[in-house]
Amino acid sequence: MTFIEQWLRSDIKNIDAYHVPVSKDMIKLDAMESPFGVPENLKVEFLKRIEQSEVNRYPEADPSELKDTLRALMDIPDEFGILLGNGSDELIQLLALACSKNDLIMSFEPSFVMYEMVSKYVHLDYFGVSLDSNFDIKLSEALLVIEREKPKIIFIAYPNNPTGNSFDYDAIIKIIKSTSGMVVLDEAYYAYSDKSFLSEISNFPNLLVLRTISKIGFAGLRLGLLIGDQETIAQLNKLRLPYNINALTQASVNFLLKDKQRILDNAQIIIEERRRLTHELSLFPKFKVYTSQTNFILVHSDDAQSLYSALKKNGILVKCFSKSSDLANFIRISVSEPSQNNSLIDAIRNYYG
Ligand SMILES: *Cc1c(COP(=O)(O)O)cnc(C)c1O
Repeated sequence: MTFIEQWLRSDIKNIDAYHVPVSKDMIKLDAMESPFGVPENLKVEFLKRIEQSEVNRYPEADPSELKDTLRALMDIPDEFGILLGNGSDELIQLLALACSKNDLIMSFEPSFVMYEMVSKYVHLDYFGVSLDSNFDIKLSEALLVIEREKPKIIFIAYPNNPTGNSFDYDAIIKIIKSTSGMVVLDEAYYAYSDKSFLSEISNFPNLLVLRTISKIGFAGLRLGLLIGDQETIAQLNKLRLPYNINALTQASVNFLLKDKQRILDNAQIIIEERRRLTHELSLFPKFKVYTSQTNFILVHSDDAQSLYSALKKNGILVKCFSKSSDLANFIRISVSEPSQNNSLIDAIRNYYG
């Protein structure tokens, strides 16, 4: 046995590390990234901003300009507090760190895997309530679990990843009202969805909304935000590591995210491409295509695993799920700009001959 094998917690040894496939020179449709990078006409000024960053100094600890930029971009009212994270993943971890020893975290299955992984890392119990065959919440079952397990936190991805749908709004309101725990609505895909729980924060002290800039064109900057009641945010802020938002991210956000219209327009292009791609995909007889409120589309096909491999050989990376999972016969495709989406459709046509 090596040193680390005998030293490490056995539950950590048994976890599969979060797998990121090699994607160099591929058309990348696996991780819900935006195809839109820094616009050509902004590149010179962007470099200047980066140049002016004082990387020998610690970054601003409570970056108010950055928060104002996010408030304007996402229409966050001044009366709500904002907690910043190095990606929203860090904020999921921070919330788990706020729990006590025997607390339980609840979510739904299938959903975003980090809720369960983070729970395990910090020795918390986790309970995943199964979604129904349309991937919606079974409300009576959820309410029973809440009563029995008394979850400290309920994470709800809204819209959900990897299924792409938004759960029934009233069911979620009932869940928020039924629990004495915290309910975190993870709105990573808010830009592609027509519903949000942001305005409900003033109605429910146990509601937090989690957002990120990763899915709207800035995954590389690693910035997430937790929005909630001012006092709640101030208390949770004690758990944040100092200087968790680095100087280059701050400089980039303060420059690149100021142009709200450009970001909205880019989201609109993706929404339009989602409509087109959903239609094109549904023409393949083997596919069952799920309606999406996000920038990705979930597709069921009984040959999903071999289709995944064939696309990969053709330089197109989509997401497939482990052969042992309930999603083994699904692929998840990020919606990109028109030419990449066309390459995908062509490759699927070639595959089916
Ligand atoms: C992608 C995603 C995240 C991760 O966001 P980061 O800010 O990049 O850490 C969080 N929640 C959901 C539901 C996601 O799909």
